[in-house]
Amino acid sequence: MTARTCPDWPELMELDPDLQFKHYTVAEAQLPADALTRIPHVSLGEVEICCDREKHVFNPAHTDPDVAAALAASHWFDVNEWATSGPGASQTGPSVTSLDVEIDPEIDLGTSNAA
Ligand SMILES: [Zn+2]
Repeated sequence: MTARTCPDWPELMELDPDLQFKHYTVAEAQLPADALTRIPHVSLGEVEICCDREKHVFNPAHTDPDVAAALAASHWFDVNEWATSGPGASQTGPSVTSLDVEIDPEIDLGTSNAA
């Protein structure tokens, strides 16, 4: 294996701390067959991809454009999509944190007293 941690991992961790981005060649990343068939490159062992292979999230900034387009058409997530509207948004995304803050117990007490 030649996989190595993405140099931008601190930024990516801010999007979702559960994601671990590494750089692979397309051959190493073991992409889904439906995505591989869309990739025009012949030498998959030389094309680079930046992704969390377990969660099926890729970082388009560090991924070959052809590969990124193929993954976007598969069940993989663009990391920006993951953090805003994908599974990452409903788990540990910023939107969940703001919801927790808005649920204030004092509001519930006030409502029940009034009723
Ligand atoms: Zn990267």
